[in-house]
Amino acid sequence: MAGTGHIILLGAPGVGKGTQAKVIAAELGLPHVSTGDMLRASVAAGTELGKRAKAVMESGALVNDELVLGVVAERLRAEDAARGVVFDGFPRTVVQAEGLKALLEASGGLGIAHVIHIILDSEEIVERLSGRRVCRDCGAIYHVRFQPPKHEGRCDRCGGELFQRDDDRPEVIRYRLAVYEKETAPLVAFYRQQPGYAEVDGNGSTAAVTDRIRCFLE
Ligand code: AMP
Repeated sequence: MAGTGHIILLGAPGVGKGTQAKVIAAELGLPHVSTGDMLRASVAAGTELGKRAKAVMESGALVNDELVLGVVAERLRAEDAARGVVFDGFPRTVVQAEGLKALLEASGGLGIAHVIHIILDSEEIVERLSGRRVCRDCGAIYHVRFQPPKHEGRCDRCGGELFQRDDDRPEVIRYRLAVYEKETAPLVAFYRQQPGYAEVDGNGSTAAVTDRIRCFLE
């Protein structure tokens, strides 16, 4: 896979954006930029940003656009972002998509090379999210049924403790899907007309979905 420019993975929570973003970023040698991971790190570190984001994140609502755009703008200034990044969970609103566009135009550097929209029906999404477990130390993602770790509760890669995200509880999942429909789904219309936009079926194994994505990146 060759890459110039940023890659956006678009899709509802639970379609596999995080898993795929990690694989693609590693193959392309680009940084994986997950706004969710960055915000969770700020919450864990107890920074000012983390304090403002914590309750919003636990409820399943979206963090303020300006805060998120600030975090992304700073991340894109880092040296390792010079060849492009793989965005996961950003942009999440039309305001963020417009903000990113303005940011990239103002910097006169890279544009958006690909927008990969992963599609999965909502029953499958609820099943995936409710069984998802994440490593507290390295962020590796598991599923209690579809991708269980070798030893229950422990990460295969680093031995870290696996936990369930607060927002992966069933009652929060429904709300997050409603937020997606209202705030993020309109981004499909925003990006659909652009070259590099592709829709990918999110069903099947991680490897099967990666293969489908690769076809569009080559
Ligand atoms: P994620 O890990 O992408 O599912 O994000 C977890 C939570 O972090 C979301 O439910 C939001 O509360 C917050 N978040 C992550 N990315 C964004 C974003 N681009 N805009 C607003 N909130 C975000």
